[in-house]
Amino acid sequence: MNSNISSRIAYVNGLVSGLEINKDSKEGKVLLEIIKILYDLSEKVSDLSEAQKHMHRHIDAVDEDLADLTDSILYDDYESLEDEENNFEEIKCPNCHDLVYVDKDMMGQKEEIICPNCKGKISLLLKKEDENK
Ligand SMILES: [Zn+2]
Repeated sequence: MNSNISSRIAYVNGLVSGLEINKDSKEGKVLLEIIKILYDLSEKVSDLSEAQKHMHRHIDAVDEDLADLTDSILYDDYESLEDEENNFEEIKCPNCHDLVYVDKDMMGQKEEIICPNCKGKISLLLKKEDENK
C-alpha cells in the first residue's frame, strides 16, 4: 500500500515534470511544494507503519508474558487451596457459628483460638471443654 502511494507520487511528479512548467512561476512553486509535501507525507506514513508493526510485536510479547503470569498465579492459587484443604481443619465457632479454619499443626499446640468473626474463644480441646462446663 505504501509502495503504491510512493509510486503514484512518483507518477504525479513525472506528470508535473512533463508539463515543463516554469519552476519560478507561482503555479510551478505551488505544484513543486505539493509534490514535496506528498513525498514527506508518504515517508512519515511509512515510518509510522513500521513503528506500528514494531509496537504490535511488542504488545504481542507483553500479552504472552501476561498470559504466562496469569497462568502461574492461578496455578499457585490452586496449589495453595489444595494445601489449605490438606492442612486446615474446619471448626464451627460455638458463639457465632462461623466456620473457622485452623492449621492442623496449631491444633496440637494450642488449646484455644480466637474466632476472627466474633473474637470469642474457641476451644480446640473438645474434652476439656466438657470439663469446664
Ligand atoms: Zn465466632
